[in-house]
Amino acid sequence: SAEDILRDADIAMYRAKEAGRPSMIFDRQMHQEILDALNLETDLRTALDRGELLLHYQPIVDLETMKIAGFETLARWKHPERGVILPAEFIPVAEETGLIDRIDRIMLIDACMQLTRWRALPGGADIFVSVNIAASEFLREDFAEKTIGAVTALGAPPDGIVLEITENTLLHDMDATAAIMERLKKAGLRVALDDFGAGYSSLRYLNRLPVGLVKIDRTFIRALPDSTSDTGVIRAVISISRNLNMDSLAEGIETTQQLLWLRESGCRYGQGFLFSHAVEPSAAAAFVGRTLTTPSQA
Ligand code: C2E
Ligand code: MG
Ligand code: MG
Repeated sequence: SAEDILRDADIAMYRAKEAGRPSMIFDRQMHQEILDALNLETDLRTALDRGELLLHYQPIVDLETMKIAGFETLARWKHPERGVILPAEFIPVAEETGLIDRIDRIMLIDACMQLTRWRALPGGADIFVSVNIAASEFLREDFAEKTIGAVTALGAPPDGIVLEITENTLLHDMDATAAIMERLKKAGLRVALDDFGAGYSSLRYLNRLPVGLVKIDRTFIRALPDSTSDTGVIRAVISISRNLNMDSLAEGIETTQQLLWLRESGCRYGQGFLFSHAVEPSAAAAFVGRTLTTPSQA
């Protein structure tokens, strides 16, 4: 029908705009993708109301001492029919529909409560927790105030909270980002640059912004220790971080070889399947105060 044709033309037009192309030819797959996204959105709304969002925590290790230093909060969705869905699938939908603000708030509140618990455990006095924050959330006018307010209201120690943002956040508005980061820093919270090196990394903003932690993207770590171009980049990031008084963290450590190389290079923290996947809060608590065994030089 004429209506169907107009609808399909519309879909193709929006796709073309998204892709920054002058035109695009419609195919059925485009329509199906929109239906899928709509279903996912409806499901996600219900999921949040029903408490189907799971909060998992991945241990972060101090590479020199091998002590557990903190945890990253990672969302999982326990779908009643499909089982556990990973964030790569639902975070983009949540970002497009604005549901991300509810998700990030749920994550922050739980992280604050876990942190208070962990800090009271033996060996947990310096534990920190990091929470991923979507760019759209971080750049909201009231983000800093609301976040500081929530941390205070929950009685969590602000010096144990790390907010992870990606380089995309900085691309939007450097001055606004700097102002938000200064406000957070004043309240004692730290900001981490997540997936560093994966996007349009610029050294210009590193020294202009109060960044506390630089998380080196796992695509660089994956190449260790064989690719000389990647080892060069990692070494440079570790050394720049140190000179600017920021901590460095390597994401996605999967092998003992990678761990040994990173420790040798002076990277402060590490995170990856070699140590642990993201686990439930009760299992995370069991990590607090532990020192992992140091692998011997192979
Ligand atoms: P991210 O913040 O860079 O999180 C690290 C991702 O790397 C996690 O995937 C983690 O499971 C995975 N990972 C950790 N160690 C290893 C390893 O040794 N090898 C490999 N191959 N992967 C490893 P996950 O949980 O699927 O999360 C993917 C992304 O989704 C996160 O990337 C983050 O950007 C986003 N995300 C997760 N939870 C939230 C949330 O609550 N709010 C927001 N805004 N984003 C979230
Ligand atoms: Mg992260
Ligand atoms: Mg990351």
